[in-house]
Amino acid sequence: MATVYRNLGLMAELGEVDTLAREDGETLYRRCSDVHHHHLICRQCGRTVEVDGPAVEQWAIAVATEHGFSDVTHQLELFGRCAACQAAD
Ligand SMILES: [Zn+2]
Ligand SMILES: [Zn+2]
Ligand SMILES: [Zn+2]
Repeated sequence: MATVYRNLGLMAELGEVDTLAREDGETLYRRCSDVHHHHLICRQCGRTVEVDGPAVEQWAIAVATEHGFSDVTHQLELFGRCAACQAAD
């Protein structure tokens, strides 16, 4: 766990610009919080929620290490229908 958090801290220091891939494949660039995070995106209204994925971070580092990779980055977006859109049905 210590390694995971060190890596997250490094990414935060670098202040990476978020690239946000839409479901149709188009890439959007947006300035999000500096801390690495993921997104839940409503495919109906476009609402975006920033979420943490500690399990994903651990998995990414573990699988990369297993294959001898370093300096690994990843992007993960989850698409669905938000609560407001479901309520509007
Ligand atoms: Zn974001
Ligand atoms: Zn929505
Ligand atoms: Zn991540």
